[in-house]
Amino acid sequence: MTANTPDTRTLKPIRRIVIAGGGTAGWMVAACISKTLGRLLDIRLIESDEIGTVGVGEATIPTLLTFHELLGINEQEFMAATQATFKLGIRFENWRNVREEYIHSFGLTGKDHWTAGFQHFWLKGRARGLAAEFGAYCLELRAAEESRFAHLPRNGLNYAFHLDASLYAKFLRQMSEQHGVQRIEGKIVEVRQAAPEPGAPEGEPGDIQALRLDNGAVIEGDLFIDCTGIRSLLLGQTLGVGYQNWSHWLPCDSAVAVQTASVGPAVPYTRSIAHEFGWQWRIPLQHRVGNGLVYSSRELADDQAGATLLGKVQGEVLTKPRVIKFTPGQREVVWRRNCVAIGLSSGFLEPLESTSIHLIQRGVLKLMQLFPQHGIRQTDIDEYNAQCRNEMEHIRDFIILHYHVTNRDDVDFWRRCRTMDVPASLRHKIDLFRETARVFRAPNELFAENSWIQVMLGQGIVPQQYHPVADLMGDAELSGFLGEVRGQVDRALGQLPEHAAYVARYSGTP
Ligand code: FAD
Repeated sequence: MTANTPDTRTLKPIRRIVIAGGGTAGWMVAACISKTLGRLLDIRLIESDEIGTVGVGEATIPTLLTFHELLGINEQEFMAATQATFKLGIRFENWRNVREEYIHSFGLTGKDHWTAGFQHFWLKGRARGLAAEFGAYCLELRAAEESRFAHLPRNGLNYAFHLDASLYAKFLRQMSEQHGVQRIEGKIVEVRQAAPEPGAPEGEPGDIQALRLDNGAVIEGDLFIDCTGIRSLLLGQTLGVGYQNWSHWLPCDSAVAVQTASVGPAVPYTRSIAHEFGWQWRIPLQHRVGNGLVYSSRELADDQAGATLLGKVQGEVLTKPRVIKFTPGQREVVWRRNCVAIGLSSGFLEPLESTSIHLIQRGVLKLMQLFPQHGIRQTDIDEYNAQCRNEMEHIRDFIILHYHVTNRDDVDFWRRCRTMDVPASLRHKIDLFRETARVFRAPNELFAENSWIQVMLGQGIVPQQYHPVADLMGDAELSGFLGEVRGQVDRALGQLPEHAAYVARYSGTP
């Protein structure tokens, strides 16, 4: 059913929520709904120990702090429970070219003028030989480079976390159960549906009524949240919602992951190291390191990928390499009938910018904003789907940027990425920046100007001009301005302690 077809359903109040799946998505959804509307609802979560979870997903972005604030989570307790460390950005190694690197940090770089961002002044400074590297004007980036961290009062560091995904699910489970969520162990073997309403458009499925488990239990509900992971048991398999495949833009379709023992103090950034056919992640936690290789299975067999990863990790290997297959893309809609898909069941973008947990958070917060307490209306569904699509497409563009704008010429994989067609929305952003150094954040876009600028410069775009307002500053004034910004960064940096020692003190780890 779409916005133009008549809504034939009768409005039924929503009281019983059934969450299918208990990975990061299932438990984030359970924690959020129970905290927000728990007293009005009966919430049950079904998960299967036999199936298990994807078990990766350990780097986050700063929006998670807002989620934790809404849930009333104590940061120190959370960090101790999930063995978390702080994250100030991502270091991209070998992406622009082999043996070159840059950091995409969570911080703002320099100071903007209302007409023009800091990059315009910096570009002029570079042209006049007055400016240091772009990153020298960003506190988060410098702190990441020097592995320092502290909570600073007012306008302090903008940060996120590295966390242990399975400990995070446990932590959220405990919270959810305290707020009344009932966990049910079992494997869903049947999804029961009502017949389509009389007069419903051709092909329109009926609502989901209940889930039958392998032990015979039947769990009925009014609203079902599909958190069953990549298999998308409810939305994809049962309600037949198709999948938009983006692999013509994002060539990787597989990942292999292993955990290793730490070999040194945890650094406050994720490492993303490009290889011939994809890239490797390295995520330092308090008690271990998460590692993985994201690759294109057309170029690299799974066993070769596992061997490649094992050859590149440091420290004792703690787990067997685990291969995960995926298709980059998203479901055509993420809410259909009385089923909303959140997490991997709704789509997947590789973890290059650590956006999946953020998308789970957005999915459940939007559902809370549009919560259909008195019955599900197509207008709510359409609004939800449009917002989710929009956000996902912006993130997709940002991720494609990393592959497409590169000087790598060493193998066909990167040559193909360089020369491929990209979405028109991304083409425009790249061209605008290349020609004028300008970049504008779209409404509801996750990544702000500063992220785009860091990555576009980092990947090797050299803008052809800068805004004329920068020419209003003579050399002496510009040099003074740049020096002042840099001095502020250096002074703040000098106050920051070493990251791992700070984490140990803060989260109570001996
Ligand atoms: P899953 O973890 O797969 O959970 C599915 C749940 O459904 C499980 O509990 C399972 O038991 C249950 N289930 C399935 N079928 C049935 C059934 N028939 N009956 C009963 N229960 C069932 N995100 C980030 O934000 N940062 C990252 O750094 C990051 N790295 C990633 C790396 C890789 C390689 C991948 C693949 C993903 C990564 N992600 C990352 C994404 C992140 O891991 C996921 O978004 C997150 O784990 C959510 O997964 P999920 O809960 O949707 O699915």
